[in-house]
Amino acid sequence: MRVGAHQLCASRLVIHLSLLRWLLALSLCGFVHTSAQAKTQDYVDLNVVAKRLGMKSYWLAGYKTYRLKSQWTVIDAAKNSKCIKINHVPVYLGFPAREWQGSLLITKADYDHVILPILVPQVYGRGPDLKRIVIDAGHGGRDSGARNDAYGLREKELTLDVSLRLKALLERSGFEVVMTRESDVYIPLQQRPQIANRKGGDLFLSLHFNAAGSATAAGFESFALTPQFQASSKFARPSGADNTAYKGNRLDPWNTLVSFHIQNSLVKGLGGPDRGLKRARFLVLKHLDCPGVLVELGFVSHPATAQKLRTAAFRQTLAQSLYEGIVAYGKRLQRIQK
Ligand SMILES: [Zn+2]
Repeated sequence: MRVGAHQLCASRLVIHLSLLRWLLALSLCGFVHTSAQAKTQDYVDLNVVAKRLGMKSYWLAGYKTYRLKSQWTVIDAAKNSKCIKINHVPVYLGFPAREWQGSLLITKADYDHVILPILVPQVYGRGPDLKRIVIDAGHGGRDSGARNDAYGLREKELTLDVSLRLKALLERSGFEVVMTRESDVYIPLQQRPQIANRKGGDLFLSLHFNAAGSATAAGFESFALTPQFQASSKFARPSGADNTAYKGNRLDPWNTLVSFHIQNSLVKGLGGPDRGLKRARFLVLKHLDCPGVLVELGFVSHPATAQKLRTAAFRQTLAQSLYEGIVAYGKRLQRIQK
């Protein structure tokens, strides 16, 4: 159905919507000043999505945020925003939600790559196993990664410390663990996913810490591989380079699901600031044969975080939160595979 020509039909989930016409209409209203690309997106009405998933849906006061709600799940989507909240965890869509004639719409691509994998992953089949977990301690050797010299922190040491703590927790629970490095050695980025593939890993978890020029930047974030035809979270809109599909994209639903559980567990364990589940085409994620997630566990450049990172207790809390995220993902897989 072509929006603009007909009324929205609630019985149809997919609304064919020309982004060109969208942008043109918005430009005429003065909201968007951009050169429109002649690209067509299919959109879905969140009211229809809610009905299909057995959820209630309604606008919150102020008419900016649209809520989908069930007994276990609350999804808040805001007009013209790429960030939706699923059970309070910010999750970045590929495209902004758009209002149309009193309804809020998201792209069919985001329905497929975000909503379904997190809410009803079973539609993608039985899912992968979760026995052998590959932990990738970021950086190492001549590559120190982010650093805060005033606090004596180097990312390569923090990632290895948390990785070894996580390894111990996982092994105690009967998981098999493969480490891409267990000492202060340099491993090129492209070798890290190769290790996971060669060892037959069921999950690849890459651990990192952030640094920023501003001392106020804080919080943790999880990255899943960007789906084909979408811009990574730091870019406003897709480019031609985004048309490439990588090996890791075959596991898109599980990349999303595990990243969501990891981020959710970090929020529970650490509080915040919660920078959300984002998308990036990191080299370590692109060529994986198993689901993968890259986690940025905090800013070494943030003084209060740096102070905490000096303590073993906080590094143990980081490992414990990651562990609980992996276990939650595993339980979800088990429910699907019953
Ligand atoms: Zn790093």
